[in-house]
Amino acid sequence: MDVHVVVAPVFGTNCCVVVADTVGADGRRDCVVVDAGAGTAAQVDRVVSDQDLVPRAVLATHGHVDHTWDAAELCARYGVPLRIHRLDAYRVGDPFGTIGLGTGGTDGAAGTDGAAGTDGAGGTDGAGGTDGQRDDAGPAASVSAALVQSLADYGATPRDFRPPPDVVPFDGAVAAIEAGDVTLRALHAPGHTEGSTLYVLEPVDRTDDTAGVVLSGDVLFAGGVGRTDLPGADVDAMLGTLRDVVGRLDPGLVVVPGHGPTTTVRRELDTNPFLG
Ligand SMILES: [Zn+2]
Repeated sequence: MDVHVVVAPVFGTNCCVVVADTVGADGRRDCVVVDAGAGTAAQVDRVVSDQDLVPRAVLATHGHVDHTWDAAELCARYGVPLRIHRLDAYRVGDPFGTIGLGTGGTDGAAGTDGAAGTDGAGGTDGAGGTDGQRDDAGPAASVSAALVQSLADYGATPRDFRPPPDVVPFDGAVAAIEAGDVTLRALHAPGHTEGSTLYVLEPVDRTDDTAGVVLSGDVLFAGGVGRTDLPGADVDAMLGTLRDVVGRLDPGLVVVPGHGPTTTVRRELDTNPFLG
């Protein structure tokens, strides 16, 4: 299983093109796209055409808009559905409203009131260390402002968002996602959002010493974990996820987080202050 990481220009979301090991009868390989962040579509399409891949689905680790912005474009281009956990599916149609930001107004939503000047802790990821930094409007407002600013730098506004035409949710604590020749194990990992999901890719051939890859979304980062102060987040659920889901991953898995550098489960279990 090959994983190509494309970094989005908005919020630095890691978008992954996961390529099947199996070569189809027509000599082409299937792939899925995970977390199509804003501005990733052209780069993803380049990977797809350069390698002559057949996209079978777009997946999201959760419904925050920095992980779904380009999903509609890619789903339409390839004629494939967006797969997301049932508990985050409601976010896909209204990703700004579900983080406390409206898009219908003529002023406020895309306001340029200076609040966008974040301290670098902005983003919908973050390692939870937001205490003491909140402004009066709360964390959702500061994230929204940072997101609006990042979109503006990219040349977009929240009103440009389009929901994917075909959303096919999955459900349960563990789900096997099969998209053509690509199989992923979806592990429900709530806390950052209700339906946050880890996608585990296990190699068919385990004779080498790699155990595979886990795409950890905004649940687990190198040295940090996802923030739990936005609407729909839950600190207790996150603690349960870190203990019962992340804590039970194969330590040999390579971790590609939703933002930032790649790591391994073993390294995080050994050194991440939010684990163990
Ligand atoms: Zn997020």
